[in-house]
Amino acid sequence: MRTDHQSTDWELIDRYGSLVEDPVEKLKFVQRCGRTLPTARWRRRAVTLESLWLASRRAAKELPARDAVLLWTFRHRQAMRRLSSAAVVCLLLLPLRGVSAAAKRRGPNLRPSPEAALSFDAAAGSSRVWLVETIGHTELYSNGLRVGNDLRSRPAGTVAPIERPVGIVFHTTESDLAPLEPDHREQLRRRGRDLLEYVRRHRLYHFVVDRFGRAWRIVPENEVAHHAGHSVWVFGDQVHVDLNGSFLGVALEAQSRPERTPPADLTAAQLHTGRLLLEMLRSRWGIAEGNCTSHDLVSVNPDRMLVGHHTDWAGGFPYREMGLANPYAQALGSIARFGFGYDEAFLEATGGRLEQAIRLAEAALEQQAGERGLSTRRHRRQLQEQYRRLKRSAAAARPEA
Ligand SMILES: [Zn+2]
Repeated sequence: MRTDHQSTDWELIDRYGSLVEDPVEKLKFVQRCGRTLPTARWRRRAVTLESLWLASRRAAKELPARDAVLLWTFRHRQAMRRLSSAAVVCLLLLPLRGVSAAAKRRGPNLRPSPEAALSFDAAAGSSRVWLVETIGHTELYSNGLRVGNDLRSRPAGTVAPIERPVGIVFHTTESDLAPLEPDHREQLRRRGRDLLEYVRRHRLYHFVVDRFGRAWRIVPENEVAHHAGHSVWVFGDQVHVDLNGSFLGVALEAQSRPERTPPADLTAAQLHTGRLLLEMLRSRWGIAEGNCTSHDLVSVNPDRMLVGHHTDWAGGFPYREMGLANPYAQALGSIARFGFGYDEAFLEATGGRLEQAIRLAEAALEQQAGERGLSTRRHRRQLQEQYRRLKRSAAAARPEA
């Protein structure tokens, strides 16, 4: 409920807001003023000063030359603008310093408050996808995405943080699925609920998209989820080892089958939501397209130095439908960069769909060996040793990964 005092402020804001021609700038101005209303009077004064500055800009544009007072204002508008700008900057800097000092006093907080989320989105005003509103536990984003926070995992102890996610690994949940028929309504609901509860208990993914296309945030993006295990991803010059510490995990409730691509159980609603979620996460965290990948491409077995410890998606992640370039047609980084091998079980589990990625990686490996005057076998051994060293240092830096 607004007090009389605030109502007067809002009238003032509306009046000054009408002086701003650009609709986007106007909205920003009104929102900025609105956020300062419940705060101290001297901060409101800063806004009033800013409003006056806007008014003087507009007056300078539309000045009737015969009005002596306004003419004087017009002649001295540069000086007035500089003066009011300096005053606004000084007044606005004071609360900023206060906020950062308060943040320091609070110490690290892994769970963003709703206010923090809002200020992030406000800061990323030019982003394509932004948070529109939060009603209850549900967030609505500008691209139509809805994210439920009802099932967020609350860790019992300290959790490992992700400073800023740099990529996304897509998974299938590989869970039991009921037929998508009205006769199986109860079974569908029960299995979905059990799955989400399991994921929540084990903090397996950041997000799950269920069969009805609902997106659930299980683990906040700035906390580690246990989704990728031993893993390698290479994108250009970037080499990522053990992705839990830097990549988000998004799972679609589906089962991979070597003979199906994409999994036949995947629903149109899931694909649609998966795409919206991808858009939001890329927009929010500035994630490169080349760092959006699937578990079948990144999972490795370091004990046997083989690719494909996990094979969910089985070479069938719908990259094209998700608006992404297809990495299945590129050299598999774990082989080309670190000399991993592959076996028949991997080829079978992925229905032979990763043969091209393997062939390209093996060819790259041979070429590198030739350029260095080494046998492919020796070059592979050297690359594997590099991997082990990198893994040891990654483990030392992130013991939880
Ligand atoms: Zn997986």
